[in-house]
Amino acid sequence: MRIGCPKEVKPQEFRVGLTPDAVTEIIRHGHSVVIETNAGMGAGFTDEDYTAAGAEIAPDAQAVFDAAEMIVKVKEPQAAERKMLHEGQLLFTYLHLAPDPDQTRDLLESGVTAIAYETVTDARGGLPLLAPMSEVAGRLAPQVGSWALQKANGGRGTLMGGVPGVRPANVIVIGGGVVGTAAARVAVGMGANVTVMDRSIPRLSYLDDVFMGRLTTQYASAAATAELLLTADMVIGAVLIPGAAAPKLVTRAQLSTMLPGAVLVDVAIDQGGCFETSRATTHQDPIYEVDGIVHYCVANMPGAVARTSTQALGNATLPFVLALANKGWRQAIADDAHLRAGLSTHQGRLTSPPVGEALNIEA
Ligand code: NAD
Repeated sequence: MRIGCPKEVKPQEFRVGLTPDAVTEIIRHGHSVVIETNAGMGAGFTDEDYTAAGAEIAPDAQAVFDAAEMIVKVKEPQAAERKMLHEGQLLFTYLHLAPDPDQTRDLLESGVTAIAYETVTDARGGLPLLAPMSEVAGRLAPQVGSWALQKANGGRGTLMGGVPGVRPANVIVIGGGVVGTAAARVAVGMGANVTVMDRSIPRLSYLDDVFMGRLTTQYASAAATAELLLTADMVIGAVLIPGAAAPKLVTRAQLSTMLPGAVLVDVAIDQGGCFETSRATTHQDPIYEVDGIVHYCVANMPGAVARTSTQALGNATLPFVLALANKGWRQAIADDAHLRAGLSTHQGRLTSPPVGEALNIEA
């Protein structure tokens, strides 16, 4: 199969759909790859890296879309890209169609067969193509939060690990799923005093087991949250209620009860945020202050570490790319119900019931 990978065009998107390592694997399976020139630059991969892996470099996106039977990307196709899609072509990327009627209409009109990363499932009920980005955002959260804690950035001037004789920072992680566990791991590694809060007892038991006393678990009641806020240097918001906006777990009134210069990192901002005072920010201008509390609310955190994120996403997508290329999409989804869960559009028909429900289109 001929597989194409264009350069991402969504603003501030530096990741790329295929790494040179993925290209090598795909070519070893007997397929060919065409990459748009400079597609990997944001993630630190040059055209020469791709050529050495066996890819052909195309001068522009049109040449990639014209040549490829399957397009592998990162972000949902933007309006200009959607015009280049055509019937019989396979599109494998993040789509997030439910809140996006324009994109859904264009994909249906193009006749493309689109498989969405975010709805591919795994045997444990997880989302294997979303998890790597949660892992990245989680590990990044204490890193950016500790930067915000520095005095010059408006923070309290507290060092995460303290020093001998001086206590470490108190870090609360609200939500102990993929993001929260990754955040806790890094915060513990930095020497902070970490408490993870969740409403799932099995999840708290799991964390208690694997961290073996290196953090504290706490049931996430409103009263416990209020009490922990009084002494927190950093609060990381990492909750998710699938299919719903994030619940607001810290109110504006509570900010004045917190230590001046404490930091809120709202990873759940892409679901509306879990602090009342959160509003989405960008990597260019990531923090702002409300009532003396520093807020970091970047909605696409993995973009800050585009190289790591590209490699992590590529590792997770590669087995599916290979299955689709080796077997053809019909056989690949017939053999794998988890991949089939990603099928979103085919020849002008919506094939995802939840998207149909959200947009009031028959699926
Ligand atoms: P997850 O499903 O693995 O974990 C969510 C956890 O929140 C679960 O353990 C759940 O029990 C817990 N929870 C739900 N309601 C709660 C409440 N009221 N109090 C305490 N805990 C509660 O989800 P995840 O993959 O860890 O994602 C967490 C959030 O991070 C999501 O909103 C996701 O969209 C977001 N995210 C953001 C970025 C970014 O760049 N900003 C990147 C990746 C993920």
